[in-house]
Amino acid sequence: MPVFVVHEHHAKRLHFDLRLEMEGVLKSWAVPKGPSMNPADKRLAIMVDDHDLDYAGFEGIIPEGMYGAGDVMIWDSGTYELKSGDIKTGKLEVDFKGRKLKGIFALARMSGKEKEWLLIKKNDQFADRDFILKTVKTF
Ligand code: MN
Repeated sequence: MPVFVVHEHHAKRLHFDLRLEMEGVLKSWAVPKGPSMNPADKRLAIMVDDHDLDYAGFEGIIPEGMYGAGDVMIWDSGTYELKSGDIKTGKLEVDFKGRKLKGIFALARMSGKEKEWLLIKKNDQFADRDFILKTVKTF
């Protein structure tokens, strides 16, 4: 099964990068608020550059002066199953088998937009209406 990772990225602004193994690369979205297990949350997910597959295991520090400088940690990882759709049509349904991300999510490109998608938890047994995202890094 293909892998996914969610990087917690402490760049100038904290955000989360969702990466899905697809077509031999990691398709990637920057999610400013991070994923949510609450179906009521619609999380903006901005498509960013593909990354190499081996980046799925990356944790470390991007040095000062480089793009995205700051700590990168793995917030969650695991495998996923593509239930329907593809990138081209701008609508995917993905079944995550992670430690934090579980069950079905929709990823849908916003109409008229090129890079802006929404990441939304579907109502299933893993949905959590009290979900509060906790960062890996403690302050
Ligand atoms: Mn990032």
